[in-house]
Amino acid sequence: MLKNELSSISRATRQALDQVPCSFVDGEWHVCAASLEVIDPSSAGVISRIGESGVDGIDAAVQAARHAFERGAWSRLDGADRQALLTRLAELMQRDRNILAELEVLDVGMPLWLSTQLDVGGAIEAVRYMAGLARRVHGRTVQLSQPLTDAAFFGYTQKEPLGVVGAIIPWNVPLMIAVWKLAPALAAGCTVVLKPSEEASLAILHLARLIQEAGFPPGAVNVVPGAGALGGAALACHPGVDKISFTGSTATGRRVAEAAARNVTKLTLELGGKSPQLLFPDADLPQAIAGIAGSIFTNSGQVCVAGSRLYVHERVYSAAVEMLVEHARSLRVGPGLHPDTQIGPLINRRQQASVLAQLDAATQAGAQVLTGDARVDADGFYVRPTVVAVSDPRIALMRDEIFGPVLTVMPFQDTEHAIRMANDTLFGLSAYVWTQDLKTMHTVVPRIRAGRVAVNTEPVPWPGLPEGGRRASGYGRDMGEESFESFLETKSVLLRYA
Ligand code: NAD
Repeated sequence: MLKNELSSISRATRQALDQVPCSFVDGEWHVCAASLEVIDPSSAGVISRIGESGVDGIDAAVQAARHAFERGAWSRLDGADRQALLTRLAELMQRDRNILAELEVLDVGMPLWLSTQLDVGGAIEAVRYMAGLARRVHGRTVQLSQPLTDAAFFGYTQKEPLGVVGAIIPWNVPLMIAVWKLAPALAAGCTVVLKPSEEASLAILHLARLIQEAGFPPGAVNVVPGAGALGGAALACHPGVDKISFTGSTATGRRVAEAAARNVTKLTLELGGKSPQLLFPDADLPQAIAGIAGSIFTNSGQVCVAGSRLYVHERVYSAAVEMLVEHARSLRVGPGLHPDTQIGPLINRRQQASVLAQLDAATQAGAQVLTGDARVDADGFYVRPTVVAVSDPRIALMRDEIFGPVLTVMPFQDTEHAIRMANDTLFGLSAYVWTQDLKTMHTVVPRIRAGRVAVNTEPVPWPGLPEGGRRASGYGRDMGEESFESFLETKSVLLRYA
């Protein structure tokens, strides 16, 4: 059977599914008047309900965050104490690792090994990393040498938490992306209103329970589930918010940017991608093929940095494509809770239909599907890993973000040709280079227009390495010191001492 066996989940996970739909505001749980269904992507069955916070719910959350920020119970807490509470949160997440991982499987569809290692494991590591930065808030002294007056001056800068942060996140790796916003903002002393995606909120709501248990001051973190067009839009244009940190599609990102501009609210935008992979003839082919497949098929291609466009040097094109097709066909598609599953279902019926429609359109435009029928005969939202040979780079499959397990392949003649094709996109999130040759690597990496280039590896997020894009993939960075700094304001202090 291609659906999750719900009898196998833990009692604690079952309890989390049975919670009354609520939001978490000012340190308390509030029952929501309206609610939304939670659907298991492996079966299309309803398994739970989440709250719909609405415009009033968002307003209450922003007020609670503002009040908490001004009161100073979090924002003026010593960095060492903020570090201690974040570390406590990481410990509780570690304790409830299995609950968080099972909730993500049931909500998103991803396999259990992936939710355990990448999503939950990545989230815990990110909290730990940012906890360390909480004690590293540094200004600098400035030598003042303006010869305007005989008086003596001393100048320095100090860093202060930015204020109230509105975090809006997508459904594809919910817990990890939530923490990418939450942890640096909290480490910097900001208070947060977090709106998870209506498609996947369960693990975030459990995280809120852990935040409550850890003992964060009321209002430091507020979690308001609900629809983007309602709660998300209300948060993006709320005048009480000092910064919006958004991750999601480029289309929604544009709307969020317009809404935030009304109050000149600061903004980080982590948007979509159409990331290239360049396979050079000197690469270790078996290693590269496994990595290329991992870069596109992990989480059924629902990864912002998915390497969806593969360009292969013409000398190894036939061999590489043959190996890739065989690899894609060998991947086991199934429900996330099944231990053998490598590829789970997509998030919802709409996403499944969209991916299949884009494959159909590409075929009509002359592209050749090499892996056979992508459809799976099941109630769940499955799509098989698919490799498509393309000759016309202008077709939609080559230009639009598909967000599904679909890899396009094209040959290239030389390095210049490869770089040109890699950069032939409106996006600029990530890129992959497969080569053993140092000269090739150092020629290609600087010329790729992307926020990140991975060499001989599939994407592995490291808390210290910033994630983010250029052009239609957005601006600003999650993770790394860059992200932490983006939640701090700089104040210049000028002192006359003689
Ligand atoms: P989405 O844009 O549909 O939704 C993202 C979030 O925005 C959700 O919480 C949603 O409720 C909210 N939202 C919807 N309409 C809104 C509005 N008008 N105002 C404010 N908020 C609104 O994206 P998705 O389908 O959830 O996620 C997939 C997309 O996210 C893909 O494009 C993917 O590439 C991108 N993504 C990017 C990164 C990155 O780091 N760059 C990481 C993960 C996902």
